[in-house]
Amino acid sequence: MSAPFLSCAYIAASILFIISIRGLSSPETARRGNILGMAGMLLAIAVTLYSDVVKEYYWILGAIALGALVGIWSALKVRMTALPQMVAAFNGLGGLSAVLIALAEILDGSPQYFENAAGLLIGALAFSGSFIAFAKLQGIMNARAITFPLQHMLNAILGIAVICTCAVFSLNGSPQMFYLLAALSILLGFLLILPIGGADMPVVISVLNSYSGWAAVGIGFSLNNVLLIIVGSIVGASGAILSYIMCKAMNRSLFSVMLGGFGNDEKASSAQGSADKTAKTGDPADAAFIMENANKVIIVPGYGMAAAQAQHILKTMAYDLHDKYGVEVKFAIHPVAGRMPGHMNVLLAEANVPYEDVFELEEINREFETADVAFVIGANDVTNPLARTDTSSPLYGMPVLDVEKAKTVFFVKRSLASGYSGVDNPLFYAPNTIMLYGDAKKVASDIVAVLEK
Ligand code: NDP
Repeated sequence: MSAPFLSCAYIAASILFIISIRGLSSPETARRGNILGMAGMLLAIAVTLYSDVVKEYYWILGAIALGALVGIWSALKVRMTALPQMVAAFNGLGGLSAVLIALAEILDGSPQYFENAAGLLIGALAFSGSFIAFAKLQGIMNARAITFPLQHMLNAILGIAVICTCAVFSLNGSPQMFYLLAALSILLGFLLILPIGGADMPVVISVLNSYSGWAAVGIGFSLNNVLLIIVGSIVGASGAILSYIMCKAMNRSLFSVMLGGFGNDEKASSAQGSADKTAKTGDPADAAFIMENANKVIIVPGYGMAAAQAQHILKTMAYDLHDKYGVEVKFAIHPVAGRMPGHMNVLLAEANVPYEDVFELEEINREFETADVAFVIGANDVTNPLARTDTSSPLYGMPVLDVEKAKTVFFVKRSLASGYSGVDNPLFYAPNTIMLYGDAKKVASDIVAVLEK
């Protein structure tokens, strides 16, 4: 196959990827975006296999079959709530492939030392960092920030050593320097992610995603492969933009996220006085009665709704309230509700909740003061008012949904336990809050049973 034809096919695949990402930016066009992305990938793989660069098919076809099996298994089996760790694992594999390709290139006598070093360095960071992120999110290791004395100093020294080794390898291409660079970069990746915990993890995953893209760019230059360069840049840039958006949503700076330390203090909770407070409890019948007599109900879903898979019954509850009782019902989504960006939007779309009933934080926050009921189902951190007032709280600075401004606030959850950040929520003890204890799906079903009587 001629080089110009290969380049044209790669550019066509890249255009499909770019249109695909555009499609993924809205739930209405996401399905089409996915299909275009798949078409781009199919085109990229097909022309690469057909090109002269591939000399040996057995290994490649074996790897494609293995990758396809893992992909199909993940798509069928991995629960929505486990997507962040799946993304972490895939980022790590992306980083590892950059490391292995750089190694193969060096063993093959490639003279492009700097490009290989860049791919290796960033790929190794993405690999080991994602390994720790996966272990934390999967509960294999303590999810909190792990800190120790002189940690930043150690990381800084290691960072300088990595840069120096990278420079020396780029000049002399010595395999020993290559192995040293690999070892130091992997160690740095582990150490950089250890001190990050709590609610900063989503940002870290997005940063690692960006790293895996830049690693592909480095490898793309060393292989002289235009597709890897373009696609790596798209992944790198979109990961960086997503990290920025998430930091903004949580009112954190990327610098402070990457320095870590967030969420390591068990006593960070500022609701220490909670032991002597009592929370009012209600039952589904009370909730049904109050909501069917309300003018306006705002539903705030969170991680617990996803864990309980309560989205379908929640939609039934919302439309019973609207259709049978004439209540105005809206859904309020916090940008980091759940465990991945867009988590709640995806689940509500899956339950066929119309997009026009779903509002982002800044669109709906003012409406809580005119709402009769805020129905918070499986959400916690995203409503915690300490984020506004308590400078010592790890949540401080994160914009939150002003649910307490509604006349009545229902919290559907199984206990008074804290959420992902480990910070107690003083709203549970507020005079206008009623706790509805139980699994989100069960409580919503019980309310629907009363509403439909
Ligand atoms: P939280 O983690 O703050 O709270 C979820 C609540 O759901 C828990 O307090 C839990 O309480 C309850 N819950 C769990 N299972 C059930 C169930 N089956 N039925 C009913 N309730 C249940 O979730 P939020 O969505 O409010 O906030 C998201 C948090 O996750 C933020 O801190 C965010 O930073 C972080 N994060 C976000 C990511 C993202 O990209 N969106 C990714 C990773 C982390 P109980 O045990 O009492 O039932």
